Amino acid sequence: MPQIFRSPSQDSFMLVRRPAWHTRAAIAQVIMALFSLAAALAAHDGAVRGVLFAAGSVVAAVVLWTTLARRESARLLLAWPLLTLVLLTVASFVIPDGARLTVSFIVIAFLFAGLTQPPLASLWLVAPALVVHWSVIDLPPAQAAIRMTIAAFVWVATAELPARLTFDLRTARLQLAREAATDPLTGLANRRGWKVDVERLVHAVSRSGRPLALMLLDLDHFKAFNDRYGHLVGDELLATFARRIQFGLPPEAVVARWGGEEFAIALPDTTPTEAVAVAERIRAAVPMQQTCSVGLTLSGAGDSESSLVARADAALYAAKNAGRDRVAAG
Ligand code: GH3
Ligand code: MG
Ligand code: MG
Repeated sequence: MPQIFRSPSQDSFMLVRRPAWHTRAAIAQVIMALFSLAAALAAHDGAVRGVLFAAGSVVAAVVLWTTLARRESARLLLAWPLLTLVLLTVASFVIPDGARLTVSFIVIAFLFAGLTQPPLASLWLVAPALVVHWSVIDLPPAQAAIRMTIAAFVWVATAELPARLTFDLRTARLQLAREAATDPLTGLANRRGWKVDVERLVHAVSRSGRPLALMLLDLDHFKAFNDRYGHLVGDELLATFARRIQFGLPPEAVVARWGGEEFAIALPDTTPTEAVAVAERIRAAVPMQQTCSVGLTLSGAGDSESSLVARADAALYAAKNAGRDRVAAG
């Protein structure tokens, strides 16, 4: 069965699929850094350090923005809290109240990681957070142990829990999208899934220039079959036929239940001879001595999913009108 939606792996978290999100985040960061730059320039004490700090964070924001916009990886989002922690370490030596600032920002960094990363991924932040924390706070071991215990609770509450909850939500959303694109009787893609997959295929084909075969199949006299054997047997036939259609097709092929007793197939990279051979094989695979008609077409320059379907549909009508149980090309 063609995979319409990817499984909920690392990078299907899709945050990075919208570069506008990062653009806005980066712009906000740059504006804030420019403000602090202006403030540092206006102030008289520690102006050089302030200017360097603000200028550094502008550069960092721009570098992050370009990297994130180019690489579609949710993991890369971890760079934001990591950079924040590094900046805070530097800041804690500059700002008198830096240590307290650092603690609250570690919590924010955890929360950010929890909302954007899969469960346990925020563990990557724990080590740098500890280093940052220890570099600014000098504690005796007993107090440090208490602090570490509290830190563990903070990590679970602000990073791990949100990560698990958002992971469940995203998984449910993907599951729902997959179900919405699948026909429950045959397990094939339905019209919705078909459209997504075939449009992608047509786009790839228009770039490679290699033809795509598209066929529409319609079972012959299926109403009569239902009337004779009952709808449950009809359902069984549809499910068995769907399994047989897929047999031997390349993994890139898209197979869908087009409507009631109609199926659609898109085969990339196919010559006319190969397409007819596939259609004939499928025609011979209808279970229970039933037959089907096939309308077949090959893509040319400027074809779209709808123009291909229109031609295959016309060919299917021709096959029906010519007496059914045959393949017609259009
Ligand atoms: P033709 O050769 O002209 O295609 O004749 P046909 O009887 O196959 O076509 P028609 O459009 O008259 O009837 C289609 C039939 O398909 C009617 C309907 O009962 C049956 N059908 C549609 N969906 C399902 C389904 O999910 N299960 C079953 N068992 N039958 C279905
Ligand atoms: Mg029909
Ligand atoms: Mg029919």
